[in-house]
Amino acid sequence: MPPGAAGVTRSIQRVCVYASSSDAVDPVFAEAARALGHGLAERNQALVYGGGNIGLMGVVAHAVHAGGGHVIGVIPEKLRDMELAYDDADELIITESMGERKAAMETRADAFVALPGGLGTLEEILEVLVLKQLNYHDRPIVFLNTAGVFDHLFRLFNHLCERRFVKASQRALYHVAAEPNEVFRYFENYVPPVPETKLF
Ligand code: AMP
Repeated sequence: MPPGAAGVTRSIQRVCVYASSSDAVDPVFAEAARALGHGLAERNQALVYGGGNIGLMGVVAHAVHAGGGHVIGVIPEKLRDMELAYDDADELIITESMGERKAAMETRADAFVALPGGLGTLEEILEVLVLKQLNYHDRPIVFLNTAGVFDHLFRLFNHLCERRFVKASQRALYHVAAEPNEVFRYFENYVPPVPETKLF
């Protein structure tokens, strides 16, 4: 099916979630991570994620399991050896490097979500956004903007757009969801954008 064909809804079986490794954040963020995990399990959508047992990563993985869902963790050797891995994952894929890990997560996923997070989360979601911008894929990308945590980032995107570093059309590459149910509604109604033929 060509990307951008109107009315085509995709079957989403595996969702890649990028999320904070911090345990120090406000409980409102853990609540959002838990709700997202429950939502995945309810829909039989497997979680693909960074394989950690800490921060919001751990919360989302535990919530998927609590709901009877499937967890696929992808973690580099070095972090696994630091005992940061979620050993109860149904599949725990060990990679040599961070780069391999990102590729392994990306190729396994039908959709991408950034839960609130820091530098690691931003780096990962921006990479899949850039890949979409360059037509390497046309899968859905959502920022779960709990408590407006990413508002400054979107302000920066707008600023870069005003300065013409970012094209206005690139706004269609991702969705901003205020709460977890909105992530699933977006997936259900997702129609890939018509790919830009003129990239530069
Ligand atoms: P951050 O947002 O900086 O907390 O980084 C979280 C993201 O980076 C996650 O999506 C993970 O893929 C990766 N990451 C960072 N720290 C860890 C860790 N200790 N264990 C596993 N993955 C991590």
